[in-house]
Amino acid sequence: MQRTTKIVATLGPSSSDPAVLNQLVAAGIDVVRLNFSHGTAEDHRSRMDNLRLAMSAQSRSIGVMADLQGPKIRIGKFADRKVQLKSGQSFTLAARCESGDATRVGLDYPELVDDVAAGDVLLLDDGRIVMDVVGIADDEIRCTVRHGGELSNNKGINKLGGGLSAPALTAKDKADIRTAAALMVDYVAVSFPKSGDDLRKARKLLANAGSNALLIAKIERVEAIQNLDDILAACDGVMVARGDLAVEVGDAAVPALQKRIIRTARERNRFVITATQMMESMIHSPIPTRAEVSDVANAVLDGTDAVMLSAETAAGEYPVQTVEAMARICLEAEKSADTSLDKQFLDRVFTRIDQSIAMAALFAASHLKVKAIAALTESGATALWMSRLDAGVPIYALTQDVRTRYKVSVFKGVYPVMMGQTGHNRDDLLQEAEEQLIRAGAVKPGDLIVLTIGEPIGTPGGTNTLKIVQVGDPVISDQPT
Ligand code: PGA
Ligand code: MN
Repeated sequence: MQRTTKIVATLGPSSSDPAVLNQLVAAGIDVVRLNFSHGTAEDHRSRMDNLRLAMSAQSRSIGVMADLQGPKIRIGKFADRKVQLKSGQSFTLAARCESGDATRVGLDYPELVDDVAAGDVLLLDDGRIVMDVVGIADDEIRCTVRHGGELSNNKGINKLGGGLSAPALTAKDKADIRTAAALMVDYVAVSFPKSGDDLRKARKLLANAGSNALLIAKIERVEAIQNLDDILAACDGVMVARGDLAVEVGDAAVPALQKRIIRTARERNRFVITATQMMESMIHSPIPTRAEVSDVANAVLDGTDAVMLSAETAAGEYPVQTVEAMARICLEAEKSADTSLDKQFLDRVFTRIDQSIAMAALFAASHLKVKAIAALTESGATALWMSRLDAGVPIYALTQDVRTRYKVSVFKGVYPVMMGQTGHNRDDLLQEAEEQLIRAGAVKPGDLIVLTIGEPIGTPGGTNTLKIVQVGDPVISDQPT
């Protein structure tokens, strides 16, 4: 059995060494994430160069995601780097404060003053510190500390319940979109989008920079939950960004939201990545906690396309062990996942020709118990449609386009296979498809496979033909035995 859930690994200081990156690739990462909240364009470029070397050494196709920082609001710096806050004490957030102490600190977003009022709750450092806003005076936010603790330089601030006005794309994000386009990344993740418009703006900027990367909306604001339909219409995939989402909606609301976001995304033909703290303890420990094992397994059972590692692989002590453990947990969880396709079909509505072919391919594949589905695809769209339901049959995306090969790497149960440049002769293509599948170890002569293709050959989005073939039979035969 091969794993169907994909693994996204964030690269950082712990995974920049080419030897470690090679081990991560060998351990099974499918997508790497370049976190534009940290590091320079040069850091990202050199990590990508290392990745390309590891990929070609191991003949793997790995997608690359640029994750934009977005308008994360942060406190300024303290004179002594950090302070201890006591529960019940007063504390002030003031944009004009240059050097903080135990009573006040600066803010990198002066407009926050206009977004909050007495009675609001602010969460700092991912919710470790909680403050009640008691009033606004002289452009300063006066608070009472509800839960104290250590607070250090540049920690993030969230407002419980959402309602921050900061636009999703900052000047830095706009510059980073150009860097991402130049690096030829496959996915761009937009942080803190509130509506579909934020995604449409990002897509325009990307297109202007010459990139057609798939767009990922990070669901991490209350508004994003309210506008989920609009956001799903405007993006290609979503990330359940549990770190910020938990502080905006309250941590207890996240598990149910995760299930809803995953289900809705798949229904709307979008891919979905579940992120943040999945294997958090492995930053410092060679084995995961029982709770982390359950969390990863439950995300798999929820139907996520991919699970993501953040600090575990970017800054942790055990990046390779973390990926190995995650792969093992996914594989085991997949064994118990529900692949009864007929039930999943019940509520499906489809009107497009390519989607109808994709659904028919799944239906035939699951009932005939074929070895594999082979989608000859220019854009990867057919493979995406097919992977929105789980038929328990591997889907091979056969493509001549190297960019498509990377893009499908995040889709659950989809495996990219490279086709050569055999031109547009249909029979030659079908012949080569079989050969490549045999070479990839996916099938052997005699196996039954379901094949989809667009005719005439070479029109993107034109999948209109379904063929059931026995590997090794003459391809022109329409009568498999
Ligand atoms: P971040 O996004 O790590 O960039 O903040 C993920 C999250 O908020 O969960
Ligand atoms: Mn976030």
